[in-house]
Amino acid sequence: MKIVLFGPPGAGKGTQANEISNIYELPHISTGALLRKHIEEKTKIGLVALGFIERGKLAPDDIVGEILREELAKCKNGFLLDGYPRTLPQAELLDTITDIDVVLNIQIDDESVVDRIVNRMVCSVCGKNFSKKLHSTEVCDCGATLTLRKDDTEEIVRERLAVYAAETMPIIDHYKAKGNLVDIDGHGSIQQVFKRIQKALNDQSKNR
Ligand code: AMP
Repeated sequence: MKIVLFGPPGAGKGTQANEISNIYELPHISTGALLRKHIEEKTKIGLVALGFIERGKLAPDDIVGEILREELAKCKNGFLLDGYPRTLPQAELLDTITDIDVVLNIQIDDESVVDRIVNRMVCSVCGKNFSKKLHSTEVCDCGATLTLRKDDTEEIVRERLAVYAAETMPIIDHYKAKGNLVDIDGHGSIQQVFKRIQKALNDQSKNR
């Protein structure tokens, strides 16, 4: 299956992507994680992306498109895209590369997003996210130390939400017109949301 996980920052895309990728054995492509890796490795792409990410803005379409092409070329048997596309030109580029089976549109209100993100700890080794409210240590299940993302402050999250509304939400109509968009309620526990996603994916595979 070729799946796009769509939704605002803090909707739980990364967390749900880990669950889906384990159960359905699909490679998880997170453009945000790939950009952070470039930043860590101080590549040319990383140096360009840093200024945008730190301000809560989107990285330029051309550099993200380059990363996407490279990753999709490795995925012959389906994939799970997390954080791409985020603009209409990105969605149009994706259309030229491949067809998407289902776009899971995870919906959540802005105040829940802010609460989740300012309490988020991340593992840069295995990619798992934790809430400070539910996880009392700074150690990941994989043994690595959890960290805070620089762009996870309230001020930057509110900017990312504004960017999402202005630049990313218009893509919803693009996929609605194609008929492959499924709305998922993103509130509740990880397992509650995952059950909704499983149901959507099962319904989708019956219709294929
Ligand atoms: P994420 O890890 O998905 O929350 O992404 C973190 C940041 O990386 C975003 O706020 C953007 O600055 C940048 N980013 C990730 N994916 C994209 C994309 N598809 N297009 C532009 N910027 C992106």
